[in-house]
Amino acid sequence: MELEDINTIAVLGAGNMGHGIAEVAALAGYDVNLRDIKDEFVQNGYDQIEWSLGKLAENDQITEAEADATLERITPLVEVEEAVGDVDVVIEAVPEKMAIKKDVYTEVEEYAPNHAIFATNTSSLSITDLSEVTDRPEQFCGMHFFNPPIRMPLVEVITGEHTSEETLDVIEALAEDFDKSPVRVHKDAPGFIVNRILVPLMNEAAWLVSEDEATIAEVDSTTKFDMGMPMGAFELGDQVGNDVSLHVLEYMHEVLGDAYEPAPLLAEKVENEELGKKTGKGFYDYEDGPGADVPTDQQSELVKRRLLGSMANEIAKLIGGDVAPPESIDEAVKLGAGFPDGPVKVVDEFGLEPLLEELEDAYEATGHERYAPDSYLQDRSEVGSFYDATEDDDGVDFETIRLEYPTEYVGHIVLDRPHRMNTISSELLDELSTAIDLLEDDDSVRAILLTGEGEKAFSAGADVQSMAAGGADPIGAVDLSEQGQTTFGKLERCEMPVVAGIDGYCLGGGMELATCADIRIASERSELGQPELNLGLIPGWGGTQRLSNIVGEGRAKEIILTADRYEAETLEEYGFVNDVVDNDELLDAALEMTEKLAGGPPIAQRFTKRAMLAGRDDTDAGLELEAAAFGHLMATDDLMTGITAFMSGDDPEFEGK
Ligand code: NAD
Repeated sequence: MELEDINTIAVLGAGNMGHGIAEVAALAGYDVNLRDIKDEFVQNGYDQIEWSLGKLAENDQITEAEADATLERITPLVEVEEAVGDVDVVIEAVPEKMAIKKDVYTEVEEYAPNHAIFATNTSSLSITDLSEVTDRPEQFCGMHFFNPPIRMPLVEVITGEHTSEETLDVIEALAEDFDKSPVRVHKDAPGFIVNRILVPLMNEAAWLVSEDEATIAEVDSTTKFDMGMPMGAFELGDQVGNDVSLHVLEYMHEVLGDAYEPAPLLAEKVENEELGKKTGKGFYDYEDGPGADVPTDQQSELVKRRLLGSMANEIAKLIGGDVAPPESIDEAVKLGAGFPDGPVKVVDEFGLEPLLEELEDAYEATGHERYAPDSYLQDRSEVGSFYDATEDDDGVDFETIRLEYPTEYVGHIVLDRPHRMNTISSELLDELSTAIDLLEDDDSVRAILLTGEGEKAFSAGADVQSMAAGGADPIGAVDLSEQGQTTFGKLERCEMPVVAGIDGYCLGGGMELATCADIRIASERSELGQPELNLGLIPGWGGTQRLSNIVGEGRAKEIILTADRYEAETLEEYGFVNDVVDNDELLDAALEMTEKLAGGPPIAQRFTKRAMLAGRDDTDAGLELEAAAFGHLMATDDLMTGITAFMSGDDPEFEGK
């Protein structure tokens, strides 16, 4: 079967995951039969989809007409025969109980057409065991969505022992058509990729506390503020649910052995029904206490080494066991758990040798199997890293951007974080700065083209997560603001012409970056704006200074103070965008303009740029004030109000405090 042959999909189970998966499939244009065991259950799922589509329309992510048409494509059903009798794919999201799933597959096998593929959304059960309940184990695989499916981009596509290559290819293509990023898992191993990294990590955190090696505050302070995770290990545990973690862990313990023995602290929490956020209390108290207030200053070297050591060991088991290569592990954990950097990259950078030593010492001291070093970790520690060292032509390895040379005299910088809308992190700023230096030193480059990977965004702004990790305190925020100012300033001062090709969102820091180009070409569908004031912030990367140079102070104030989003055409009228072109023609048009400028006289161009910049007012004084103001705003209540409203989609009520 090919992707084109798929028209109708059955989603079994209209609960948490099922209704979300049905919504995603219907949004992608498929007819969906949503089935649950009782009218009220399936209706409840359907109502939630209707609510969610309404929200998407309210936030202008889809039109009202699209919302209505999407809902039309979903049929709520209770009869199995009707639900699966005429479908091409069945996605099963019924409760995580082997007995229930087995019953479901036995029943579905009876009515589903022979060509239909079965995909299970199970988080922990064996894909192979489930496939063997059916008469079509080769047409059976795992399709593991993350919660909530509408927002989470990752889908793990898991092979069972009998799954055919064709089945995996079609389901991967289907996930892509759902606008998701599939990552293939090559073996039916407990926890697949993301849970296999996260759950043992949370378990090790709990062991450290159980054995009085560290406090919860120390563990979370270290994970959140020193290891670059988006939140503390216990904070994450509370979010996932301690019962869920324990359940996955018990399964791993059973299948993979004593290295996965659940820590007493975790078992105790579940026994006391302190399951995390959902019950109001877990490792933190969310009802009577302040919730997860992680201190910034209680970092512990021991915690860092033990947690990274455990993570490296788990990674070794995944790579060495052929479950997934380093690239897939990093992509999956970034997409599925919101890590700013992939875990393989993190442990590679720390160094495998000291982590192996840490594990060996801990194993000797405690004798616990969880510290037993995996043989593949020993192998790679000799090589030095999990990733094989590769260097591109410039001898520089970029992670967040790409440097390409499409035609003579043109250097092309691509912002390459499409899974995060090409948002700008501290690392991206570093790499952008290096890339500008490289291009300026390169005599064969005479003009720069700057674009964002993918069709969604040129850049949707600053990476809020990396800001939270590095800039939650006012000092860090000033640093980040200054780092951005410096890098963007370097682009603006670059002695050769720079063209920004804008396709999709160009917001906040993304728009400030585009402001530093000399010419801006945008596709019709692009949306631009400086939304910072909605968050109680100000544009911190030169926006308060440079925009008015291009559109005049009146329009600049309008754009920044209203914080509205603008269509490309409007900003063409304002003089910000030089040219608006058809969506499909953006790259060609931007490249053509860059080539044209690359063919111009380099010295005259250089002096033109220098003279125009020198003729401006005292931008540096303005930039200094901007960075200081940015730091000041980080400590205001208005920022919290703005961010909370942004997350919930409500309108903020600022108090000016
Ligand atoms: P849920 O309890 O919210 O929903 C399950 C639904 O299935 C319920 O509405 C139930 O009435 C229905 N159901 C029961 N028997 C059925 C049957 N025979 N036919 C059709 N529907 C039936 O559970 P959930 O959180 O949506 O989880 C569903 C699956 O997704 C599980 O396998 C779980 O491991 C997996 N999963 C969950 C998450 C998560 O974060 N919740 C994430 C990824 C995967």
